[in-house]
Amino acid sequence: MKQVVVIGGGHAGIEAAHISARMGMATTLLTMNLDQIGQMSCNPSIGGVGKGHMVRELDALGGAMGRLIDATGIHFRILNESRGVAVRGPRAQADKVKYRSAARRLLERTAHLKLRQGTAAGLVWRDGTRELCGVELLDGSVLPCDAVVVTSGTFLNGRILIGERRLEAGRAGEPASTHLAEQLRSLGLRHRRLKTGTSPRVARASIQFQRLQIQPGDDPPRPFSFFSAGIPQPQVPCHIVHTTPETEAIVRENLSRSSLYGGHIEGVGPRYCPSIEDKFVKFPDKGRHQIFVEPESLETDEIYLAGLSTSLPPEVQTRMVRSLPGFEAAEILRPGYAIEYDSFDPLQLHRDLSVEGLDGIWFAGQINGTTGYEEAAGQGLLAGINAVRWLRQQEPVVLGRDQAYLGVMVDDLVTKGTDEPYRMLTARAEHRLGLACDLADGRLLAVAREVGALDPEDLARVETRVARRERMRAQCDQAWVTQTSPFGPIAVRAGIRLESGLSLSDLFRRQQIGPADADACLALLEGWSEPQPDWIRASERDLMLFELRYAPYRERETRFLEGQRAWDHVRIPSDLRVEHLHGISREVMEKLILHRPETLGQASRIPGVTPVAITLLHLLIHRSRSI
Ligand SMILES: Cc1cc2nc3c(=O)[nH]c(=O)nc-3n(C[C@H](O)[C@H](O)[C@H](O)COP(=O)(O)OP(=O)(O)OC[C@H]3O[C@@H](n4cnc5c(N)ncnc54)[C@H](O)[C@@H]3O)c2cc1C
Repeated sequence: MKQVVVIGGGHAGIEAAHISARMGMATTLLTMNLDQIGQMSCNPSIGGVGKGHMVRELDALGGAMGRLIDATGIHFRILNESRGVAVRGPRAQADKVKYRSAARRLLERTAHLKLRQGTAAGLVWRDGTRELCGVELLDGSVLPCDAVVVTSGTFLNGRILIGERRLEAGRAGEPASTHLAEQLRSLGLRHRRLKTGTSPRVARASIQFQRLQIQPGDDPPRPFSFFSAGIPQPQVPCHIVHTTPETEAIVRENLSRSSLYGGHIEGVGPRYCPSIEDKFVKFPDKGRHQIFVEPESLETDEIYLAGLSTSLPPEVQTRMVRSLPGFEAAEILRPGYAIEYDSFDPLQLHRDLSVEGLDGIWFAGQINGTTGYEEAAGQGLLAGINAVRWLRQQEPVVLGRDQAYLGVMVDDLVTKGTDEPYRMLTARAEHRLGLACDLADGRLLAVAREVGALDPEDLARVETRVARRERMRAQCDQAWVTQTSPFGPIAVRAGIRLESGLSLSDLFRRQQIGPADADACLALLEGWSEPQPDWIRASERDLMLFELRYAPYRERETRFLEGQRAWDHVRIPSDLRVEHLHGISREVMEKLILHRPETLGQASRIPGVTPVAITLLHLLIHRSRSI
């Protein structure tokens, strides 16, 4: 019987092991400490703009993260609510303690899945071959397997830095993974050092909350998952505070003692999660910086200070935190710190996230140079799916850039690579109009069927929802709005002159029609008023207006994409020698050799590869086929 081993119980590992087992494959999740499965190393929250999109996509494909955050979230907010359906992003604070136990419980109850505590020391191949046969643990035992998904996060040769101190560790309080790191390095894989950092945690009782600005969550809270019945946890507010001139003075006086600025770190850090040292140095005119005060759990007294990531010495951190209004008597429970770790160049991965030249091995998560729970989870899901499909000799699942943010992320990683921790942003998705997160279920329905990881009831729920949307759209196309029709008074009230009449769809395309007008019209259609929560109906109405209003742009985009997609289907033979390509610059040649694109589409997206080079490459592929 074929077996998959997933190394690591972080956000990538949970998804890889869960989906592999859901697809019916015998799977073992091996991790250093079973109690730390699903640990949130940094901020206790899931989602946001771009990241929230990916959580909904992985949920639509049978992933775990959406359901886990719904079960354990204590503060939900839809970000960018007023900026339109395409860029809206759900975000939630998790009860970190409950998130860990919910993740572990989910895995323990998944058929075909075993959990095993232990540290992977290396991969094992059959004598004298490159045929993978197991994973060796530090205690000398071997877990036999045919495919491995490595999701080791920040642990490979991890080193924590705080002030002038440094410590070998994978995360605060947990050991680094050195044996596995050395084996992977010794295989000749290109690697580099990356870094990230986290904020101090403060005791709740030591903060004067009445002096902070309150930030309530949405009421009612809206779930992430397409399959959650509701939000079971009590909801709590977050708070906001701003840095003061004293905070800035303390940071500036002590910059030379920060690991980040004292020259103790060689790795490259995440541009979009800067430390407080970075913020004061790089944005000197900003004056003050916003800090979010977020509860870590309903079961503990720990409060997370989002936006205050630092590697200053602990005593300086105490002074810095106490310079915030309402924090004068603050007690730090855990100081912030920076961490530096090995990551591997994702240009060495195929589009299915398997490692080039090493059969049976997939990498997912922070090991590939990304940062963030959602990025890790998305890769874990795709790596898990593709490991199983490889063992079953099926074609890999590769999502297009126009199909999912997950597709954008993987294509960016394996085509362009990344020289700093990669984080998802909506700006990375050139086709974002077609990637609204509330439509992820319908958009990925065909892939979900192909993967086969959704329960039949869940699949049926998606099919029902998609069919309902189509039925409503058809009714809108057919319903005719005239002065004497039931829609007439609503249209006239909205300031629309009804001379020759128009379809309800055309009426909805008019910007004068606001949400309340649309609701009044939709209430007249058959089936619209079926019982369901108000927020679901409001979301369906917004989606309908969005789809109708943006249809012309979408059609133009679809025509453009057809051309691009054709290129994505032109495979570059693996034995094609790009050195035989005459008429291109040395720089383009070097890029093609380094990035080794698998399709003409991928080659066209490598920064610096010109349209002329693509035409020549196309000709070379043709010629190689006809030889
Ligand atoms: C200090 C710090 C600050 C961070 N700051 C941010 C931030 O500001 N913003 C942000 O988006 N993200 C941040 N992150 C990153 C975020 O935690 C990760 O992106 C995310 O957790 C990655 O998920 P993962 O599954 O790849 O790895 P992890 O969640 O790190 O999980 C790795 C898992 O692998 C296991 N493991 C490792 N090696 C072995 C082995 N040899 N054998 C068995 N098990 C092994 C570990 O025990 C762990 O369970 C930070 C992380 C840290 C540590």
